[in-house]
Amino acid sequence: MDFSTHIGSLGGVGKKRCESFYNLGIKTVEDLLYHFPRAYQNRGNVLSLAMTPDGTVGSFMLTVATKPQTFMLKNRKQITKFVAFDDSGKCTITFFNQPFVKDIFHVGDEFRFYGKLSVKYNARELSSPVYEPVLPGKKLKELIPVYPLTDGLSQNFIKSVTETAFNSLVWEGYDFPEIFTADTLEKMGLMSLKDALCEIHFPTDIERVKKARERFVFEELYAFALGLSISKKREKQGNAIVMSDTDISGFLSILPYSLTKAQDRSVREIINDMSESSGRPMNRLLSGDVGSGKTVCAALSLYVAVKNNTQGAFMAPTEILATQHYNELSPMFEKLGIKTALITGATSASEKRRIYDGVAVGDIKVIIGTHALLNDKLEFDRLGLVITDEQHRFGVRQRSVLAEKTRDDGYDAHVLVMTATPIPRTLAMIIYGDLDISALDELPPGRKPVDTFLVDEGYRERLNGFIRKNAEKNQVYIVCPMVDEGDSEEEALLPFDFTADDVEINNKPKLRSAVALAEHLKNEVFPDIPIGLIHGKMKSSEKDRVMRDFEQNKIKILVSTTVIEVGVNVPNAVLMVIENAERFGLSQLHQLRGRVGRGADKSYCVLVSSSDKEKARQRLSVMCSTNDGYKIAQADLEQRGPGDFFPDSKGDARQSGGMRFRFASLCDMAMLKKAFDEAERVLSNDRTLSLPENRGANRYMQRLFFRLRNT
Ligand code: ADP
Ligand code: MG
Repeated sequence: MDFSTHIGSLGGVGKKRCESFYNLGIKTVEDLLYHFPRAYQNRGNVLSLAMTPDGTVGSFMLTVATKPQTFMLKNRKQITKFVAFDDSGKCTITFFNQPFVKDIFHVGDEFRFYGKLSVKYNARELSSPVYEPVLPGKKLKELIPVYPLTDGLSQNFIKSVTETAFNSLVWEGYDFPEIFTADTLEKMGLMSLKDALCEIHFPTDIERVKKARERFVFEELYAFALGLSISKKREKQGNAIVMSDTDISGFLSILPYSLTKAQDRSVREIINDMSESSGRPMNRLLSGDVGSGKTVCAALSLYVAVKNNTQGAFMAPTEILATQHYNELSPMFEKLGIKTALITGATSASEKRRIYDGVAVGDIKVIIGTHALLNDKLEFDRLGLVITDEQHRFGVRQRSVLAEKTRDDGYDAHVLVMTATPIPRTLAMIIYGDLDISALDELPPGRKPVDTFLVDEGYRERLNGFIRKNAEKNQVYIVCPMVDEGDSEEEALLPFDFTADDVEINNKPKLRSAVALAEHLKNEVFPDIPIGLIHGKMKSSEKDRVMRDFEQNKIKILVSTTVIEVGVNVPNAVLMVIENAERFGLSQLHQLRGRVGRGADKSYCVLVSSSDKEKARQRLSVMCSTNDGYKIAQADLEQRGPGDFFPDSKGDARQSGGMRFRFASLCDMAMLKKAFDEAERVLSNDRTLSLPENRGANRYMQRLFFRLRNT
């Protein structure tokens, strides 16, 4: 027998049980041994009858006091009863339709019972408990595995086949296919495969079970890390333009501030990639919290591309954002003699034609825009760098379309993607497995944290007073979850974000709509204050006008949907009010809050939620306790698991049933990091995992990836 032995060749597993095992995904002995208990009953912890409250499940060591008696009930069920006792008291034991138990329980014998104790008016009862005789010289097992079941397989059957299979392997001296080298096992303090399997199925001690599980978690993460690292190495080839002129002093000299350390480091990483003499194209993710200053990093990268006689394209997900980037960057570029253009859906046909021509002949060096950049008519003279902002808004395919505009010319463009969705770094390594990562983990100096409050409807009046005060001196955003009354919820949540699925289904608090709220505020609450409205259903020219008015302080209160969520920069806005906050994911709330706190004045964020769900309120309270996007992402991750962070095959990160691990949880960042380090170390000696000691790892990895891709 070995790991590949078919399950059907085990004793007692006939055709029917085979089918049942298949339902559990078990075909071989290996599958069977990797079918782990979902829990363990701790029967070792013996309770005392008198001290145990009603409803407790546990073990009781009891001596039989009376002879079992069987009665017929009205519903023709048979009930067998007897009394048993321990030092503290007595208890009735009942079994239904098992009259034969009277031959098992003899007065004076001791048994260990395991079950749920019911206590009613001092009368205790254990109904159909599990029982094991206490015999001299035989120690009862303390931990009992509980396996996931399916029709046709019982706990006891799974237990016994597993035991038979494992014992046969051990008996035959089978060499368990270890995926770790002896070195790794030792260094990481991991249990061997054989010992770990033994502990999982025949547990001796809960601490050792944990240790065994840890081995399997690490095993899975390690194999995962190996696979990712290998596929990443394969991609490290290509034919990009080597940007050897790396002098950025010209641009730095016209910047009104100096770079933060994080910006400096990231820009250097970017320039290193672009100037790498091997010609491997850059494929880098720049991640940085809201306001960490990603735009200037993009600008510096574009500057390098232009200095090296190539063109740069900078794509943003919304018109507002593209326009804002253009307004910020073009004056600087023009000052340096670099011609810059903006293309969005709103650009007129004639203007577009002019821009296409300018780009085609290489006169326009930097082009900023929305999806409009993907238009076939836009052809570059020599495209060297492609940047996408808030890249999660684009599908993977869209991202590559732009870069592929260079394919015909026989070279690859360098690619930089930017995201403000703070993803814990290790998780980012996984999601963007094919990307290198730079992180802006520091904000420019002088930023003040945004004080955040969670309030309910009861505060409405005070909140209105607070809005008035802030609108008179500065400016205010009010965000609603939907555009119009009766609309379905507006403008998808951030793809990486978590929807608030704990939101009540029945007792939904009324949703505020932007249109209705704006009307209400204008007519009834702040008739004297200029109020603007912006949402995704408006024409882009209208949106632009409203945004411009807000930037120029002509609008004091801007009622909006999440269209203003990404990137928008109006430093005079100091108050962000979010209606129905429970409808938003934490990361999205963080994005919205990032719209304030950008200027010199103290800023506030008020989350309005009438949800009475404890969970929802707890989730929201994270926002009040920290301004750190990474901590918030981490909290999201811990509360909701990492599933939603994963892009699915269509590049849509929202939903993905796949990428589920069997044992590992990606929340365990420390473990993940170790797995990646160890994989790196092993691969540095054996790139293709072909040394004999790494073959097991290779095989496991292939299987893991097969499973991850096909579930
Ligand atoms: P985000 O990373 O969210 O895209 P931005 O690039 O929009 O952030 O930058 C936010 C603001 O910070 C902008 O007004 C920008 O001019 C400013 N900024 C960026 N870097 C620095 C810096 N090193 N020192 C001071 N201000 C900076
Ligand atoms: Mg930005």
